[in-house]
Amino acid sequence: MLPSADWFLSCAFSPSAAAQACGAQGIAVQVLGSGGPELQDKRASSSYLVWENGQARALVDAGGGSALRFGESGAQISQLDVILFSHFHVDHSGDFAALIKSSWFEDRKRPLPIYGPPGNDFMPSTTEFVSDLFGDKHGAYRYLSELLVPGEEGSYLMQPHNVVASATPIAVFHSGDLSASAVHVIHGLVPALAWRVEIGGKVIVFSGDTNGDGEGLVRLAKNADLFIAHNAVPEGVVGVERRLHMPPSVIGQIAADANVKHLVLSHRMMRALGNEDQTQSEIRKRYSGPITFANDLDCFPVK
Ligand SMILES: [Zn+2]
Repeated sequence: MLPSADWFLSCAFSPSAAAQACGAQGIAVQVLGSGGPELQDKRASSSYLVWENGQARALVDAGGGSALRFGESGAQISQLDVILFSHFHVDHSGDFAALIKSSWFEDRKRPLPIYGPPGNDFMPSTTEFVSDLFGDKHGAYRYLSELLVPGEEGSYLMQPHNVVASATPIAVFHSGDLSASAVHVIHGLVPALAWRVEIGGKVIVFSGDTNGDGEGLVRLAKNADLFIAHNAVPEGVVGVERRLHMPPSVIGQIAADANVKHLVLSHRMMRALGNEDQTQSEIRKRYSGPITFANDLDCFPVK
């Protein structure tokens, strides 16, 4: 007997059914968090999952709300080869501890490499961030220090690394057919990275938060199959908003200069939401490829 029309409808509109199919075959990126720091955007904060043939291979950022989306995606921490951080603002890192705690209940048997920026007077480095949470002496969650401190039980240990990058891409991580490289990007005074993930012959680039200054992001995004750029501000902003974030015209110029095949707009803050028509037309003046506005749990197969 054929399934009823109701069956098709319920599947078509069930986020969990759609989510669990993401990346079942080939390469896909799933948006775990498409929002910024404001809870009123009703989106999880920044986070992305790179899937290959049903395995969640890489996680990029872990903003607030993304741990729930991670669970909804059907992924497991034990599948991950690596976690990459763009920077340590709360909307990019706030759910990291929740993800690690969840992994306690999994059967991970290998180290978990974690890469992110170095620190400065305003922000911790990646190694500091992880030890501030899980260090055995002073970590906020030192009851989980077994997952960080060598010599304690288990083969599953977090392995945090600071990535000192420039405007020229540097190779950072390699595991099987997955590699990650990074450039330094400008995000006010916050040490920040953009990431390029190459997997199964496909290229996915994550801008992270940046005002788009400098040549690094164009170099990193060169010929990317998928470029996920952060649409945090509308066209025309000035002052601190412009110093921290790239307006649509800059996103469009970078996408065009880098010759990316598909542009996905995420990190959609309240001030950007509702301005999609203007945003798209500003980008269109410079970039002629496909443009998609991301929502939580959206799946982008990379063909
Ligand atoms: Zn942000």
